[in-house]
Amino acid sequence: MKELKKRIRNIPDFPIKGIQFKDITTLLSDPSSYQRAIDLMAHRHFNKGVESVVGIEARGFVMGAAMAYKLGVGVILVRKAGKLPYRTVSAEYALEYGKDRLEIHEDAIRPGMKVVVADDVLATGGTVAAVADLLKRLGADIVECCFLAELTDLRGRDKLKGQKVFSLLKFKE
Ligand code: AMP
Repeated sequence: MKELKKRIRNIPDFPIKGIQFKDITTLLSDPSSYQRAIDLMAHRHFNKGVESVVGIEARGFVMGAAMAYKLGVGVILVRKAGKLPYRTVSAEYALEYGKDRLEIHEDAIRPGMKVVVADDVLATGGTVAAVADLLKRLGADIVECCFLAELTDLRGRDKLKGQKVFSLLKFKE
């Protein structure tokens, strides 16, 4: 796990002063690190009845699509406002820096569908809390919210009470 952690590059003061940005591109571009990270995130869900992985735009797609392929299930996209072509439901959320709106197709989820949510970094938890809200509105059964990395000092888990949360790599900030 130490090796994987070392593959993530910290960029201070990006995109604004005070943010310690976790650049995962250095892990993604290393074949064995990317494969190992996806294996560890996906294996825990083998044979548990997961029906789909929900990926959050954009870096969540890189985790979620590979996990879904590994699990032999489909992938559902949660995207920034205005990107999905069919009818959507949406939720607004606050970021560590700024505000945004996420959308999902209104027919993407069958009631009771067992899904795993995937993203790269759990920071303040606002993003994934909004996604969990969207998924619950559509009747999904969220098995777990699964992250490559978690910034533990930002206490994102506090916004995800009642959800199972897993992160492969932990950083203080
Ligand atoms: P949050 O809603 O604060 O949990 O932010 C989560 C989303 O913003 C994730 O999809 C990350 O890609 C991105 N993000 C927020 N803070 C950081 C950070 N310090 N380093 C890298 N990505 C971040």
